[in-house]
Amino acid sequence: PRFTVGLTGGIGSGKSTAAARFRHHGVNVVDADQAARVVVEPGRPALAAIEEHFGPSVIQADGTLDRAVLRKLVFDDPTERRWLEQLTHPLIREEIVTSLAASAQTHSAPYAILESPLLIESGQSELVQRICVVDLPEAMQLARASARDANTLEQIRKIMAAQLSREARCAKADDILDNSGSLESLNAQVDALHAKYVQRASQS
Ligand code: ATP
Repeated sequence: PRFTVGLTGGIGSGKSTAAARFRHHGVNVVDADQAARVVVEPGRPALAAIEEHFGPSVIQADGTLDRAVLRKLVFDDPTERRWLEQLTHPLIREEIVTSLAASAQTHSAPYAILESPLLIESGQSELVQRICVVDLPEAMQLARASARDANTLEQIRKIMAAQLSREARCAKADDILDNSGSLESLNAQVDALHAKYVQRASQS
């Protein structure tokens, strides 16, 4: 397979921001969240299986999955959650692999990026040759995540608690983007990593 770098980090760390800079260099960034949405689109077998299992309440009037309802159904039920994950995780992985394989045809850069908030937790890191972590102090993460969207501080803290700790994530990193500074500083770090990955890709 092609040289692929996994890009990860906690909520509000700056993954999307860093990914945009990699794209600016002609790199194909495959988004794991996007893949997770695609596999349950109307017409996909997974959506029919979910409807059969959980009933019609999980389908909205326009035929798309009602994520809020589904989330409530699996939230406090580990058995149901496992059922859902065993259905969707292999499909998400397949979708990611297909998108990564298309990179060579669609993008100029000699490597691709897999952007995933749960790269390490989900086992998707098996699909990549290197792990790049966007890192910043947890207090800044909380501040940026809460400034960006409607989640309350309490909700963001909960999401952070379900993700790897900063220390555990950084321990798995081959490269670290320090996003505690300005956007210009982040972009300059991405530019340097891009040059390094181009070289790595030509050697692999
Ligand atoms: P999530 O996993 O929650 O989707 P993310 O890791 O993709 O988040 P971003 O959306 O890229 O994070 O960044 C979070 C917020 O912080 C955004 O509003 C973004 O504009 C802002 N941000 C990112 N980097 C910086 C920076 N260096 N300085 C100031 N603000 C920043």
